[in-house]
Amino acid sequence: MTFPIFNLALKGVQQLVPYVPGKPIDEVQRELGLSHIVKLASNESPLGTNPSVLQAITAALPDLARYPDGSGFKLKAAIAKKMGVDSRQVTLGNGSNEILELVARTFLSRELNVIFSQHAFAVYALVTQAVGASAQIIPAVNYGHDLNAMLAAINEQTRLIFIANPNNPTGTWLTSDALKTFLKALPPTVLCVLDEAYFEFTVNEQKVDSVSWLTEFPNLIITRTFSKAYGLAGLRIGYSLSSFEIADLLNRVRQPFNNNSLALVAAEVALADDDYLQQAIVTNTQGMTELTAAFSALGLSWIPSAGNFVSVDLQRDALPIYQELLQQGVIVRPVANYEMPNHLRISIGTSEENQCFISALKAVL
Ligand SMILES: *Cc1c(COP(=O)(O)O)cnc(C)c1O
Repeated sequence: MTFPIFNLALKGVQQLVPYVPGKPIDEVQRELGLSHIVKLASNESPLGTNPSVLQAITAALPDLARYPDGSGFKLKAAIAKKMGVDSRQVTLGNGSNEILELVARTFLSRELNVIFSQHAFAVYALVTQAVGASAQIIPAVNYGHDLNAMLAAINEQTRLIFIANPNNPTGTWLTSDALKTFLKALPPTVLCVLDEAYFEFTVNEQKVDSVSWLTEFPNLIITRTFSKAYGLAGLRIGYSLSSFEIADLLNRVRQPFNNNSLALVAAEVALADDDYLQQAIVTNTQGMTELTAAFSALGLSWIPSAGNFVSVDLQRDALPIYQELLQQGVIVRPVANYEMPNHLRISIGTSEENQCFISALKAVL
């Protein structure tokens, strides 16, 4: 008789539901025999690879036999300069997802608990459960985080709170005042991860200068990524800004070469390219207007979003509509796993991609 290996895993791991990514283009092409596919399912950059990044990583290819710079010295210096912090406050990750995981592995254990919101980014639950800590999920208000309820839920065992601002998949955002008040009320023994994966897309009063708070809050960890606005999702690189103490601890736990050499080079070039970033923001603003105008015309409501995606309410089970859109060659994201069974999340594409999606949606409805 074989021993059931499953039972040897941490309880939290046994109960884990694996992350479901957006359907890859290849897979849809294979399964449906379609040649033209529009993928608006993973909040990727519709601008494609930045040509100056392409040039830089091509130039770096002959050095692949060498290990990367394990300290990420040059990239950290560039991030520190741009953000106005010290290099020793920067931690690099294999995507900002790795930072979320590093925080969990550095600070959590089975007796401790973690607070995050209903409808919050799925990875918070994954990294919490994977280390055996328990999660306390706080009901959302109008799809957004209820900061007061989160504060009220803190107990002796609470070590960490995850806040996504803007949140994925809802696109909801918090004001600077609300966040600052929240951080002030947080006990110094509770860490706050402020996940700003969509920071670059926020405009006007949505913009929060969280970096300026780092000196006041040594328990604050800001995470950012090159996957979204900078268009480097495939290379896997993100970072956190925090106190020296936290950065030092995360640095002890991470793999010595967690960022590959091409990602390090690419991120440095991407960070310096304001034109690509500006174009990404303009494309996003225009695309958001296009999509929401189409929803309006179809009599559909949506959750106002500060990100590069928008979740639309179909007022009935959205899964069959998702399937029919797939048949039309348009991949979007069902969010039933986020307790939003009637919504679909649409990433903002180029105008052409947005129009493809709008036509397909009209045909399906
Ligand atoms: C996309 C996303 C991330 C970052 O992903 P990486 O590619 O690992 O950097 C982090 N948080 C949220 C809320 C996201 O949507």
